[in-house]
Amino acid sequence: MKNQFIKTIVLFAFLSVSLVSCSSESSTDDATSTDEVVTELHAAYAQFNTDATDIYLSNGGTTVTIETTGLPNHETVYWGSSSPLYKDEPDVETTPSLMSSNNNATTITVDATPNLTGSSVSTALNTIGIAVSGASIFNDSEGNGPLSAAAGSLDWTGAHIGPGVYHYHLEPKAFSNDDDNLVGILLDGVFLYGRKCNTTGTYPTDLDTSGGHTTTTQYTNGVKEYHYHIINELYSTTGSYIAFAGPYKGY
Ligand SMILES: [Zn+2]
Ligand SMILES: [Zn+2]
Repeated sequence: MKNQFIKTIVLFAFLSVSLVSCSSESSTDDATSTDEVVTELHAAYAQFNTDATDIYLSNGGTTVTIETTGLPNHETVYWGSSSPLYKDEPDVETTPSLMSSNNNATTITVDATPNLTGSSVSTALNTIGIAVSGASIFNDSEGNGPLSAAAGSLDWTGAHIGPGVYHYHLEPKAFSNDDDNLVGILLDGVFLYGRKCNTTGTYPTDLDTSGGHTTTTQYTNGVKEYHYHIINELYSTTGSYIAFAGPYKGY
């Protein structure tokens, strides 16, 4: 009887630890001391909207923390008509939410040096990255269904507000429109760029299934580095391109 009791306690403790590790996995990755230590932020982080974001090294230089208000530095209908950044978009089937009615703030912590061990992890709902504008990036799903069902509510820059934060699903034309501009940082610590690559000035032809490859970018000082691109394939009837569908390669 006593043995059974102890077994139950041990099992319960094991389950608790498992649950905790699962719940923290999505945004903090495996931020352990075995990760490479860096002493300064990657040059690409200088492109982020400083009004919205606070970006700093964390966990002894093994990770980067990005705190954001989630408020983008560009126009959209979702600012609401009283905002100076309001854009009239009569064709957008707006959701009931406005920038001011929702809490758009998010904090993510990513590896300072992505763990490119060949593993690939699917993206999940909610924030999968932070864009240079300060707002969130989501994947190609809306709720548990395909994005196409909600495409009518996307604004001119491929974003909307669901029940949560303002977020991009498509190429964010406000700051990347058929070019090689930096789009943002994803949860696995890999940067996402526009449809063109700085190395060639055109659409890359050597992308893996995630939209990634290893070449130089305008922020790597001649060094080849793994990064993602928005894949140059039109999505559904949107006339635009999915920002990132995954899988992640940096976990
Ligand atoms: Zn959405
Ligand atoms: Zn590239």
